[in-house]
Amino acid sequence: SIPLSFFAGIGGASAEGVLVKGSNYLETLAGTRTVVFDKTGTITQGVFEVCGIHGTNCASGSCPVVSGHPVYTKEEEQLLEYAALAECHSTHPISVSLQKAYGRKLDVDRVTDVQEIGGHGVIATVDGHRVAAGNDKLMKKEKIAYRNCSCTGTIVHLAVDGVYAGHILISDMIKPNAAAAMQALKNSGVHRLVMLTGDDDRVAQQVAGEVGITEVHSQLLPADKVSEVEKLLRTREEKSTVAFVGDGINDAPVLSRVDVGIAMGALGSDAAIEAADVVLMDDDPLKIAKAIRIARKCLRIVY
Ligand code: ADP
Ligand code: MG
Repeated sequence: SIPLSFFAGIGGASAEGVLVKGSNYLETLAGTRTVVFDKTGTITQGVFEVCGIHGTNCASGSCPVVSGHPVYTKEEEQLLEYAALAECHSTHPISVSLQKAYGRKLDVDRVTDVQEIGGHGVIATVDGHRVAAGNDKLMKKEKIAYRNCSCTGTIVHLAVDGVYAGHILISDMIKPNAAAAMQALKNSGVHRLVMLTGDDDRVAQQVAGEVGITEVHSQLLPADKVSEVEKLLRTREEKSTVAFVGDGINDAPVLSRVDVGIAMGALGSDAAIEAADVVLMDDDPLKIAKAIRIARKCLRIVY
């Protein structure tokens, strides 16, 4: 039979906005010594702002960052429109942000043959033109001679009919509670904090540094995240467990592989919420340490 204290644990967690899907997860939560984080939407807000649009005639090499309501040239507007249209069927945080930055209603009839490639970006036919919008990996895959700029940020490259057309620089904000959340975990005996991301290494290092994570793996494809997590599972100490926290559709395989999968409930995708063992209803990363403490208290495990 299930001890009464387990019900108290699940109830106590739910009062904090933490949904624990079964009493067995209280045990795995209590034993957590390693927490692996996805970056976008987990440590950061998952809401990108456009901070620069650069066509091929941008000779600066280093992108000026705009603030407020910039006035874009016709060429820049065209790039943003192509990107927003190509991304119009995707729910990826980058896609949603580009559609919002475009700001006008998107005529989805102009878009056909949409292909979304995890960890790369999208390819779609827009007004009869083949538009590719995504990162370096997508450009390489499409054999596009792209140009990188020296600025820090997430870059969405664009190619139209196989020719490089420029890039859009976007940036995300770190969640206000993220650094405190890492500290709370360290204080609770979670000695290993790891960040896994498909994003650029400079962005990844900057975010990790700001929140206090030293172990970072960047430019990962969804499958690479699974193999990184498997390595951690193989090398964990006896009776200690590995948790993964994520929000995206690409995180579902990792969420179901780890000892305890934790999903962001508010911004998170349905697939992530479904695959998770624990759901943070308000996306607050501070709740991870809280959930671990509630679980330990209810199991009377002292760490
Ligand atoms: P994360 O690990 O940050 O959650 P993803 O695995 O979802 O990221 O994506 C990794 C990278 O792939 C992104 O940083 C971006 O460069 C690129 N990417 C993925 N999906 C898209 C998209 N829909 N549009 C543009 N770029 C994308
Ligand atoms: Mg993600």
